[in-house]
Amino acid sequence: MELTSAKAVREIQNRFGFTFKKGLGQNFLTSDAVLEKIADAAAGADGIIEIGPGFGALTQRLARRAKKVAAVEIDERLIEVLKFTLSDCENVKIVQGDILKLDLKSLIETEFDGMSVNAAANLPYYITTPVIARLLEEKLPFESIVIMVQKEVADRLCAAPGSKDYGAISVLCQYYTEPEVIAKAKASLFVPPPKVDSAVVRLKRLAVPSVRPADEEMFFKTVKASFSQRRKTLLNCLYASFGIPKDKLKAFGEHAEIDLSRRGETLTLTEFARLSDAILNLHKK
Ligand code: SAM
Repeated sequence: MELTSAKAVREIQNRFGFTFKKGLGQNFLTSDAVLEKIADAAAGADGIIEIGPGFGALTQRLARRAKKVAAVEIDERLIEVLKFTLSDCENVKIVQGDILKLDLKSLIETEFDGMSVNAAANLPYYITTPVIARLLEEKLPFESIVIMVQKEVADRLCAAPGSKDYGAISVLCQYYTEPEVIAKAKASLFVPPPKVDSAVVRLKRLAVPSVRPADEEMFFKTVKASFSQRRKTLLNCLYASFGIPKDKLKAFGEHAEIDLSRRGETLTLTEFARLSDAILNLHKK
């Protein structure tokens, strides 16, 4: 059963007496064209982990493109729906669980042993940042992550230094991946329609991070500190977060050749790496 119309979604709803839970971001995409684009972008690996399959519209398409799909859905009520809509897809494993809590390393080991794996996610928008952070920071072996996000968040993931959308999440994504918007989806393409338009971003993992700071933890601490107070200078942000005296910080800035009267949103990833190396090396002395 193809789930690409509001009518088909309503039919499933009626069959299972299903009511949408707003808190779980249950807005189901009904556009064949956008679902195909997401599935194409997520293809190319032997295995795909899908996060938030809903009624299974995307899962059906992923199953046609991969050897194996594991679909992680938090809502217990959807498990029987998925068993029904995916009854023809023998290569799909339905997993009930919360993507923020599930042991993804063991899931990958047990379901995709020795396989290349991609991820595809369409989740409630308030958990976009923690999910992206988890998928990237835990160094899970995804070659690419295709994720549906609020349109404005897509702009942030791809933003260049100096633009108003550039922030800590841009740096995180661009450190590990090459982000690219691959599709847009108007709110009217979902049932029920959400309040915002959406976009699909593919985060293609880089073979090595885009810059090489001496210490990754310090790099991300520096990034977080630099964006902690949007309109403040780097000097004030770093002082507030690290508690290092300002004269020392100024010396670190000089060493890194970065003027700390600048704002965090103007720094490139290379400059963040230089700054975090200076803090790391000089603060110890
Ligand atoms: N993939 C389907 C589609 O494109 O139509 C459904 C997407 S819907 C926006 C989000 C789905 O994610 C829902 O099925 C919801 O129950 C599920 N979900 C919400 N929070 C989740 C979490 N923490 N872990 C796993 N699934 C979650």
